[in-house]
Amino acid sequence: MRAQGEPYTCGSTSKTAPSPDTSAGRAVDARRRCTPLAGDRYSPARMVDLYHRLEGYDEVKGLLGGTDEDVLLALRGKPALLRIPAVDHPDGGRKASAPARMVACLLHGNEDSGFRAVLRLLRTGARYPFDLWVFIGNVRAASQAGWFAHRFLDDQEDFNRVWGLHPPTTRMRRCAEAVLTELAGADLEACVDLHNNTGNNPFYAIVPVRTPASLSLAATCSDTVLLWNLRAHTLMEALSRRCPTVAVECGLPGLSDNAAFAERVLDRFLAAPRFTGRPRVPSRMVDMTVRVEVRPEVPFAVGLALGDEIDFVLRPGLDAHNFGMLFAGTELGRVHPGTAMPLCATDMRGTEVTDRFFAVDADGLLTVREDLTPVMMTTTVVQIRRDCLFYIARNRSGPASTPLNADRAAR
Ligand SMILES: [Zn+2]
Repeated sequence: MRAQGEPYTCGSTSKTAPSPDTSAGRAVDARRRCTPLAGDRYSPARMVDLYHRLEGYDEVKGLLGGTDEDVLLALRGKPALLRIPAVDHPDGGRKASAPARMVACLLHGNEDSGFRAVLRLLRTGARYPFDLWVFIGNVRAASQAGWFAHRFLDDQEDFNRVWGLHPPTTRMRRCAEAVLTELAGADLEACVDLHNNTGNNPFYAIVPVRTPASLSLAATCSDTVLLWNLRAHTLMEALSRRCPTVAVECGLPGLSDNAAFAERVLDRFLAAPRFTGRPRVPSRMVDMTVRVEVRPEVPFAVGLALGDEIDFVLRPGLDAHNFGMLFAGTELGRVHPGTAMPLCATDMRGTEVTDRFFAVDADGLLTVREDLTPVMMTTTVVQIRRDCLFYIARNRSGPASTPLNADRAAR
């Protein structure tokens, strides 16, 4: 393994492969003896140790021998960008017969399903007619204070909100920029970024740019597709300018069934023919229309009693309605009588629309004013503060071409 800014030729890996009994951590050190490629395209200003860069199974295999957590230890708090070169072209040449594909995981350090699925894939040693790029994101957050305990750390930004974000004033932003720069030469055909939700949701894919190819890619991954209308500096948004890219939400983290779903997503993605041609259509598409937050000045809790230091209490279990319905009159929570509305709802243009959807009565009961479909409802104060409470979605029709009903998540 080498740090970003020290690229090597593919041929150098055979000289630096770790010994067979090398531990994952020592294997990292061994690969650092590789010689940087003369005349590399990185300027001295970019010769910083932003992420590990591994090339081919010769460099990757020493990392994979232990547990998934051992892989995190070996990565020592840094992201990693891997390339598994295409299997040799049938005519004997070494040029890939198809454009490259990419898988990203662990951009949020508490979301383990995609990471475990990617490691399982790599442990098979599989190669494809195309180069496979893999990005492993917030290793540091995934490794601190317990495994997979933090979306991001207090001294970090959200790693899925820094892609294409300027100015590059932080290490994380510089890392994102350097990865995008390196991928610019990768001839990517498509990318899938694997995530988990913090609340109960069905499995779904998120499409940031609606093109026939991106919808085909999304339908390859999941029955349900969420059309993403935000500009949030996510990896999928940044890569969508180059190729079809979707994020796939694999349900709650920490569940073997959800890691198994992520594995099936990878299998389908990597086995799929090109994403052009007659598009596949998802069974169900929903469009995000409104973002709902708890006003930042309001101290609140989930499922507790109101008190001197808690002005708003959310009813627990609301995430069970994700991608379903909250009917008019449904109770969302309570405030002290006489307290103003603690929620703030804004549409995708930034216009406040709170009064259309929510009301507080004289007794402090907060209810829904009209039927609505919530998505991505979260359940913890920390997550609600760091992102939002939920989004309101509009259902759009989408006849199924190839249903994947076996991949419904348990709610
Ligand atoms: Zn995530």
